[in-house]
Amino acid sequence: MPELPEVEHTARQLRDAIIGATIHETLVFWERTIGHPELPDFLAEIADRDILNVRRRGKFLILDLSGELILTIHRRMTGNLLLLPPGWEIDTSLKTSDPFTWNIKGPFIQTPVGADLSRPSPIYRPSPTTPNIPVGADLSRPSPIYRPSDLLYCRVCFNLADGRRLLYTDPRKFGRIELWPREREQEALKNLGTEPLSEDFTPEILAKSLSGRKSPIKQVLLNQEVIAGLGNIYADEALYYASIHPLRRANSLTPAEVQLLHEGIISVLTLGIEHGGTSFSEYRDLWGEAGDNYNHVRVYHQEGKPCQRCGTPIERIVVAQRSTHFCPKCQKLTLV
Ligand SMILES: [Zn+2]
Repeated sequence: MPELPEVEHTARQLRDAIIGATIHETLVFWERTIGHPELPDFLAEIADRDILNVRRRGKFLILDLSGELILTIHRRMTGNLLLLPPGWEIDTSLKTSDPFTWNIKGPFIQTPVGADLSRPSPIYRPSPTTPNIPVGADLSRPSPIYRPSDLLYCRVCFNLADGRRLLYTDPRKFGRIELWPREREQEALKNLGTEPLSEDFTPEILAKSLSGRKSPIKQVLLNQEVIAGLGNIYADEALYYASIHPLRRANSLTPAEVQLLHEGIISVLTLGIEHGGTSFSEYRDLWGEAGDNYNHVRVYHQEGKPCQRCGTPIERIVVAQRSTHFCPKCQKLTLV
């Protein structure tokens, strides 16, 4: 599931690649992916809008569009965004020939004839120094890194006026894409809590938001109305950093522990962004590449492996129906 670092990584890549581009038309292959407004209104409103900026808030990706509109993308479990150069075709014949398979897999995305898919790195990769597409740039060459399996389960395709296609793929279909007037952004983002990488996120604010809560600290960290953007991976990593047991009652943390947890949250999120996100299965970045942070996690999915601090095997328990990983020696359950 993409969390703050994965969404931030995608936002940065999109910022370099699509600011200034125009969404010509949008193809929707699974209607329920569009959460707001009704599909006909969505299609009519988004047509021919310019992309002015790309932002992130919590786990939401936000595209500022012309006409005072915002497009929000929440990838939930398995959603991904991929940017295809011009020349790739979309085959929707399955929709009539085999509607059952169509509902699962969506269209076939066809590689341009003669494309060399064997090369190890993408040919076209915009850089921070050339945030917009240079005039006369050759966008016709295929990016070779997409594996065929990355291109299945396409639910929405934004056709850009320059011929590129921004695909939204989502095998599990839980992700949602919504279009809102900019003045209704708060409503669109559903009561998100403090942004942990902003100046607003202080140890005092963290202490205040934990003070009235008796739930396990792990569960509180996953609540998007408390802190926006933390999910299962980074909540486990932050608690390990601070040596706090995931079942500790949130309001039982000492000021010193809150201070360490605050530091831990910022540290694990920042490292996650630097490593391009964490991939376990579905997550891919805009160019089809998996993030590198998997090689840097300390406890998440490390059950049975030795703790890097003390050598004790990492344990797995379930907290609030979510897999939770911790070191039983470094993260002792002292006060409950
Ligand atoms: Zn340990």
